[in-house]
Amino acid sequence: MFNSVHVRMTLWYVLVFGLLLGGFSIFVYAAISRAAYSRLDQSLSSRTEITANLLRSEMDESSGDLSAAAAETQRVLSLGDVHMAVFQGGRLMTANYLNEHTLNVPEGAFRAAEAAGGPSLSTIYDYGDFGEEGARLAVLRVSAGEADYFLALAQPLHNTAEELEALGRIFYLAIPGALLVAGIGGLLLARKSLAPVAAMTEQAESIGARNLHERLEVTNSRDELGRLATVLNDLLSRLDRSFESLRQFTADASHELRTPLAIIRGEAEVALSQNRDEAEYRESLAIVQDEARRLSRMVDDMLALARADGQQALKVEEFYLNDLVDDCAKASQVLALAKAISVTLDNAIDIAFRGDESLIRRMILNLLDNAIKYTPSGGHVSIKLTGKDSSVELIVSDTGIGIPANATARIFERFYRVDRARSRSVGGSGLGLSIAKWVAEAHNGTIDLDSRPGAGSTFTISLPLRKPGA
Ligand code: ADP
Repeated sequence: MFNSVHVRMTLWYVLVFGLLLGGFSIFVYAAISRAAYSRLDQSLSSRTEITANLLRSEMDESSGDLSAAAAETQRVLSLGDVHMAVFQGGRLMTANYLNEHTLNVPEGAFRAAEAAGGPSLSTIYDYGDFGEEGARLAVLRVSAGEADYFLALAQPLHNTAEELEALGRIFYLAIPGALLVAGIGGLLLARKSLAPVAAMTEQAESIGARNLHERLEVTNSRDELGRLATVLNDLLSRLDRSFESLRQFTADASHELRTPLAIIRGEAEVALSQNRDEAEYRESLAIVQDEARRLSRMVDDMLALARADGQQALKVEEFYLNDLVDDCAKASQVLALAKAISVTLDNAIDIAFRGDESLIRRMILNLLDNAIKYTPSGGHVSIKLTGKDSSVELIVSDTGIGIPANATARIFERFYRVDRARSRSVGGSGLGLSIAKWVAEAHNGTIDLDSRPGAGSTFTISLPLRKPGA
């Protein structure tokens, strides 16, 4: 039950609401109770003053007969449930409620009245008629006739206590009732506001590798749940694209691997089908060797791309880029010479570079390899390395067949080849440029192409120079 968000939300809501309601009720109860007691004190004080005045004048009229004056005062004032007593020197002289209980005024109350100069108020409990709530007692010193008296008025507190108890009962009943209603309301509200989450969960559960193209329903793209659904949909789109490119890659890779394997098998079958002379065997083995080389290059390229997809960290080291470009140019000389292609190199300045040397070498070799592959005999390939403040630029251009405009956008895609048959005949697998692009980007650089069919192509790689230690 506590694993459900809407139940937890409701419980928190009820708890907070309960605390607020409880606090508010205590505050209201305390304020009302204080007001009721202070009102009672005020009325008892003024009653005591009035009673004292009346008693004084009745004493004058009855020529000092205290009992008669007190009786007349009580009759005129009709004190109701208020107990009245007159004391002289701590001795009860007369009282309106004369039963088995005596209005027991503590000694301290007389002293306080003497000192106060007005009614002094206190609470007493030990007089049986008042019940357990006790009574508010006002004592006032009165000079009437020839003598000094103490007038004591006691107002039982049970009415006020009962009123407050009734108020308390309302709170006791109302708070759990309000909490129940709030709980039910909160539960319904939480359930309603979380309904889209439940729907989303159900939809997401039904999405798998087979139907990755399906998306979650977005009811309102501006609210939190709408945004969550949009984010999840974006995630699904990215996954879908990755899955799709993986599927495509697997299909293309199998297709590419099939051809050399078929050639190797065919060549072996033909060679083994009958006895042949040494030259024929050599020829077959040369073809097998060629295709095996192509296969291992392709597998190497695929591994490099798998590394790219796995976001494997680069082996960063410091080296001179101009030396590396030099090495690469020398390595490609063999191919260039075989095709009578001239290669010029312009890398006059020393450029210290931090990066993955073997990957950068692979990138440069791929570009040079392409430039020589797709340039007819007698053509020219130039390599230029220039350094700026914060970046280096490597430009590889050739006077080859060029790349048609409609292919330039796809040229860096895996297994893409402008002319499949020609590329294969020169040993290409369509992975070289995608590796070059990944290497450039892994070093936070870019690779650009400028090409005119028939006139040649220029690939420009721009790499930022890292600050030493960065
Ligand atoms: P491949 O192994 O087939 O050369 P790449 O990814 O290196 O694969 O290149 C993709 C395609 O781009 C090639 O098949 C070729 O058609 C074209 N291409 C690459 N470089 C050049 C170039 N310098 N001149 C003309 N076409 C090129």
